[in-house]
Amino acid sequence: MEKRYDVVVVGGGPAGYSAALYCVRAGLSVLVLEMLSAGGQMATTSQVDNYPGFDSGVDGFELAEKMQAGAERFGAVSEFAEVTGMELGGQPKVIHTTDGTVEARAVVLAMGASPRKMGLPGEAELVGRGVAYCAACDGMYYKGKVVAVAGGGNSAAADALTLSKLCKKVYLIHRRDSLRADPVYLEPLKQAGNLEFVWNTQIDALLHGEKLTGLALTDRVTGEHSTMSCDGLFVAIGRDPNTALVQDQVELDDQGYLIADETTRTSVPGVFAAGDVRTKPLRQIVTAAADGAVASKFVTEYLREH
Ligand SMILES: Cc1cc2nc3c(=O)[nH]c(=O)nc-3n(C[C@H](O)[C@H](O)[C@H](O)COP(=O)(O)OP(=O)(O)OC[C@H]3O[C@@H](n4cnc5c(N)ncnc54)[C@H](O)[C@@H]3O)c2cc1C
Repeated sequence: MEKRYDVVVVGGGPAGYSAALYCVRAGLSVLVLEMLSAGGQMATTSQVDNYPGFDSGVDGFELAEKMQAGAERFGAVSEFAEVTGMELGGQPKVIHTTDGTVEARAVVLAMGASPRKMGLPGEAELVGRGVAYCAACDGMYYKGKVVAVAGGGNSAAADALTLSKLCKKVYLIHRRDSLRADPVYLEPLKQAGNLEFVWNTQIDALLHGEKLTGLALTDRVTGEHSTMSCDGLFVAIGRDPNTALVQDQVELDDQGYLIADETTRTSVPGVFAAGDVRTKPLRQIVTAAADGAVASKFVTEYLREH
């Protein structure tokens, strides 16, 4: 790994690769550090219908490859390593990874967000054996089977719809008596003949042997306990920002998002936040990509002055 760059971008999702594209086209040397594969959350969905320019939609993984290739075409470098620590206060900024240490004059934090866990005993051990967090990624493994989706927002609604096309039966389990999801999801959900809403219900425990076999439930209105047999549980109860690495160095809001306004500047000079990881009203591919572009403007300005 080269040791010094003008800009190191942490995270290779749409925010990271957009920042890389704009920074490298501004004449800066750019390294993108990504611990998994390009695209981040976007790469886990097979159908993106709301990123402008694709009249029939686009596969998220394919879009990720294009974003990576687009930035690399102008000289951005990608390294697949996990960032394990950062020293952001001084100059240069120092970034420690599983593949060594690099220095940068400016850093764009674009680590995105991760799915929130239920916090149930056995949950971590059952991932891949009945517990999943992404219908688009893992839904195929449950083709013809019975699954439950936990949650009541857009992710849960979208996951339930995706799974209804693959699975024999889908239960959408929500703690309240109505969904928080956009109205656009409601009609298709009602139309899906194999989908059943389970309202006012909380999941108490995962029933399992080697694999998940069912769920223990409580009706939050009547207090009645019950069990449900199922082969899979898709957890769709929101996301948490990946900011643990910098929580002691950069100002976060009360939910752990990096505080940065439309300039993407954080509380630390020379450190910028782009995409889902920062405080913002809408977390989508198009807004993540927009943040990356905006970040480059303020990175360039910062580097001119320092
Ligand atoms: C299933 C699903 C479907 C979606 N569908 C749509 C859709 O149709 N349309 C839409 O607009 N949006 C959709 N979204 C939301 C969209 O994917 C996100 O808003 C977008 O990906 C955010 O981009 P980002 O670059 O900010 O972060 P992310 O996509 O989360 O990327 C962050 C990257 O940083 C990496 N990273 C984190 N920590 C480290 C570290 N320490 N070291 C190295 N790398 C690190 C992660 O591995 C990840 O690749 C969907 C999300 C999901 C989960």
